[in-house]
Amino acid sequence: MPARAARPGRAVSEPYVHVAYDAQGRKRDWFCEDVLTGRAPIERVFEDDLVLAFQHPRPIAAFHVVIIPKRHVPSLLGPEALDPALLVAMVRAVQTVAAGLDLATAGVRLTANAGAPAVTPHMHWHVTSPL
Ligand SMILES: [Zn+2]
Repeated sequence: MPARAARPGRAVSEPYVHVAYDAQGRKRDWFCEDVLTGRAPIERVFEDDLVLAFQHPRPIAAFHVVIIPKRHVPSLLGPEALDPALLVAMVRAVQTVAAGLDLATAGVRLTANAGAPAVTPHMHWHVTSPL
């Protein structure tokens, strides 16, 4: 296999490896650190000025999309989550994602887990096919 020449001034990119926890064993904010920085290769399914929706790289259901605010919002349980424009954008993303699915029989599940130490510290909603 011929060697690929690295472009001058650019690091050779390594394959993305998802790391869920930091060195202290805390859940990492991989949405801010990896997804929103462009480090993680994601498949976008919806985006506007406030939110991003993408296929979960490690799905737990046949259909699994994650919706996140583009700015750091620590949790659904905090005051930052009460921004009306953000909430409308989050729901619009859910509607857009659901509109692309066949909902004739089962619908979708919307999960907004929050607050636990093992939950990624960035507000995020999971849209999944029923488990
Ligand atoms: Zn964040």
